[in-house]
Order: sequence, then structure tokens, then C-alpha cells
Amino acid sequence: MHAIGVDIGGTKIAAGVVDEFGNILAQTRVATAAGDPASIDASIAQVCEILAAEHTVGAIGLAAAGFCSPDRTSVQFAPNIMWRDYPIADKVRALLGTEIPIVVENDANAAGWAEYRFGAAREATDMLMLTIGTGLGGALVVNDQLVRGRYGVGGEVGHMRVVPNGHTCGCGHDGCWEQYASGSALVREARAMAIKSPQRAQLLIDLAGGDVELITGPLVTTAAQQGDEFSQSLLAELGRWIGEGAASVAALLDPEVVVIGGGVAAAGNLLLQPSIDAFVTSLPARGHRVEARFALAKMGNEAGIVGAADLARQ
Ligand code: BGC
Ligand code: ZN
Repeated sequence: MHAIGVDIGGTKIAAGVVDEFGNILAQTRVATAAGDPASIDASIAQVCEILAAEHTVGAIGLAAAGFCSPDRTSVQFAPNIMWRDYPIADKVRALLGTEIPIVVENDANAAGWAEYRFGAAREATDMLMLTIGTGLGGALVVNDQLVRGRYGVGGEVGHMRVVPNGHTCGCGHDGCWEQYASGSALVREARAMAIKSPQRAQLLIDLAGGDVELITGPLVTTAAQQGDEFSQSLLAELGRWIGEGAASVAALLDPEVVVIGGGVAAAGNLLLQPSIDAFVTSLPARGHRVEARFALAKMGNEAGIVGAADLARQ
């Protein structure tokens, strides 16, 4: 059975028709007016209609950046989008007027599931995937099972506290891992450091057209790849947070592979190597256990689409 997977991002909605082997047969995307749940619903319905006009599909999976209900119909809460007990599946169903199953999945679970089934963790039984973007999403596969928890919201590793009294988080607490190991954290640090040390940040500021507030994550990656030491140090710092936190997760779950995905994974080794170094250094019982290997995500930007479709079929 073919299914539609819809990845709901902060600025765009991407959708595709996915076959049983994780191949995307057709794809489309629309820009969204950031954050407004009703216009997000309308955009989701729009991309589904476009795809369903050309393809017969048996299910629709929505990947949403938040805490989803165990019956997979609603987003209960989202730190970075205004979803509060929001019955997204019913809303989209009403717009589409369809009978086929529509389910909502956590976006990081969807991406992680795609990596586990078809990508970087295909051969693993135990995986931690980190989706590093606006937020820090986690997907856990333990013993070949996606961990959802008893009430559907397991694996929210981004909200583990790593710094007492640290930065305030959209979840209502402070010091969450997401505030240190995300694309947003990278940009916050880049801007703050660029104001503090404009000389060191010269290349990055130039790339941003001279305006510190226009520094973005992709610009940091570009500068770092051009050999800019300042930008490389920002990625190394991000990697340190990723690796240290992953070591705490390893204390709990002992994964076989840690997959790094999301926008900043584009930095490749400039992010991966510092992550591995910090992970190995922070691992409990270091030197007396098998260390998880680290891998960059293989499914690229399409992971959410593929995983949401595949989970909708199950
Ligand atoms: C949310 C997660 C989501 C992640 C990545 C976090 O802030 O709590 O549900 O998976 O961001 O989008
Ligand atoms: Zn939080």
C-alpha cells in the first residue's frame, strides 16, 4: 500500500507518496505562514490533494514537532508551534473529506523510523536518532521497537535538563538539552559571539551581509566549510553538547548507533567529530564497554516524509 507522508516544518510543509520500500514516488511542498495551526491544516490538505489526485493511497501520516497523543490523532503540546490539545488529524480529515486513516506522529520519531527502516540505522536493533533543527528531537529504537512510552510521548530527549537554571525552553522549563544542542542554539551563540568578538567573526558577519542578526545556521556551516575558525569552533561547541548529552542517553539505553540528522547535519564531519569526541570522553565506564558508533542521517530532508508514511501504514 502506498501512503502519503507530510512533514510539517516551521516554514514549509513537504509531502510525498511513499511505497513499501521507502521510495518517494512523488513529492510536493508549500510555504506556510509560520505557526498558525489553522493555516497549517489548510496547507496540509492542499499538499495531500495534489498528491492524491495522481496516486492511490491507503493512509496519511503527519509528522509534527510536538507531543502527540497515544491514539495518534492530536498534538497535545508543541514547544515551538502553537498546538495545544489540537486534534490535527480530525481537522485535516474535515478539510479533505476522506475516509482513509490519518495519523499524526512526532516528527523526530518519523525521521528516526525512516533511518531505522531504510537509512543509517538499517542494520541496528538499538538506535538513538537526534533531529537537530529549531528544536532537538529524539527517536529511540530499543530492541527493534520504536519507544513511544505509555502515553505516546516517550523519547523527548530534547527536554532532558542538562544545565540547572539554564536557558528558558519553550516547554516551560529551563536548561533543556534543546537549548544547547539545536540549530536555534547554534544561531543564538553565533550572534552573541559575533557581537562580542566581531573581528573573529568577520567572515561570518560578511556572509550575513554585515548584519549579525541575519546570521543563520546554514551560513555558519558554509563559513566553517570555507575554513573559518570561528564558525568551526561554534560547530565544535554544538558537537560537544550533542556528544555529552548522547552519553547520558547511552547510560540509560546503550544504543548501537547514534544518528545525527536535521538541518545542521549538513555540517558533516565538522559537527560529527566533536560529537564523537565528547561522547567518548563522557561515556560512563569509558574504556570498558562497546561504544556506540555515530552516523550522519542518510535519508536527508525526506526522512520525515518517509517515516510518517511508513508509520501510518502500520
Ligand atoms: C519537540 C519535539 C520535536 C523536536 C524537533 C522539540 O522541541 O519537543 O517533539 O520532535 O523539537 O522538532
Ligand atoms: Zn524543554
